[in-house]
Amino acid sequence: MSKSLAFFKGKIVPIEKAKVSVSTHALHYGTGVFEGIRGNWNADHKAMYVFRMKEHYERLLQGCKILMLDIPYSADDLCGITEELIKACGYQEDIYIRPLAYKSEELVANLKLHELDSDFTLIMVPFGSYIESDGAINCCTSSWRRIDDTIIPPRVKITGTYVNGILAKTEAILAGFDEAIMLNQDGGVSEGTGENLFMVVGDQLHTPMISDNNLTGITRDCAITLASEELGLDVIERRIRRSELYLADEVFLTGTAAHITPVGKIDNRPVGKGEVGPITEKLRNIYANAVRGNNSKYAYWCHSITLET
Ligand code: PMP
Repeated sequence: MSKSLAFFKGKIVPIEKAKVSVSTHALHYGTGVFEGIRGNWNADHKAMYVFRMKEHYERLLQGCKILMLDIPYSADDLCGITEELIKACGYQEDIYIRPLAYKSEELVANLKLHELDSDFTLIMVPFGSYIESDGAINCCTSSWRRIDDTIIPPRVKITGTYVNGILAKTEAILAGFDEAIMLNQDGGVSEGTGENLFMVVGDQLHTPMISDNNLTGITRDCAITLASEELGLDVIERRIRRSELYLADEVFLTGTAAHITPVGKIDNRPVGKGEVGPITEKLRNIYANAVRGNNSKYAYWCHSITLET
């Protein structure tokens, strides 16, 4: 039987006990940094494979540095806390793991990061697919522009930044699309609201640079590795213009929640044949096996936790 627990104020407690005050700084100002990590249940192995956990915590700690969030844990400590909570919760299904470092000070009118207390909390929930679709999804270019590094650093997962993606995602869904693609202030392609973006052009894979206001995506890094090592594609990181997406052979999005998601249409124009493209299909399958601990070459991406059954 699984239990709904949280790591809160330094210990594991029932989720109902993990509560913050309405005066909490992060609630008012979005002064937090979070991560989204997947735990993939492999019923044959009776094990939970936590995907690239250490890299997620390294990115969380980069965000903590930017936001002056002083938490008393290293990336290894955070991996240890996560393993402990996974064992205590006992989920035997796919889970989404959500660590959050935040300004916990209960004093509202203070905008000086260096004066504010910080804390760390961790929750996890059963989680299936993020974007419901067996085929290729239907995207639009958002009317909302991607936040710039001169405004709030987008390379890490700062909670307040997500208002930007949430406006874009909501607009896209209400207009009948599955996901929004965001452009930078100068019109260059940035990314989806919770995914990095790739474009297949002949035997090359093109993706915007991280400095184009993208999150330093961990699935992006996997896609780059798999495309070059498994499919022998050249991967080119460069500035991409909107109209190039319409003319690409294939476009796909990558993210912890979204995995590798093919894009079939952008702004009502079919991408390639408007279906799942052959390169995307291959990458998606290799990735799907790797995340569940079924590809020994990429076993180093997975942290396996065997649960008492
Ligand atoms: N961009 C944004 C804005 C995101 O929120 C995410 C999800 N974390 C991604 C890209 C993909 O990053 P990752 O592959 O590390 O999950």
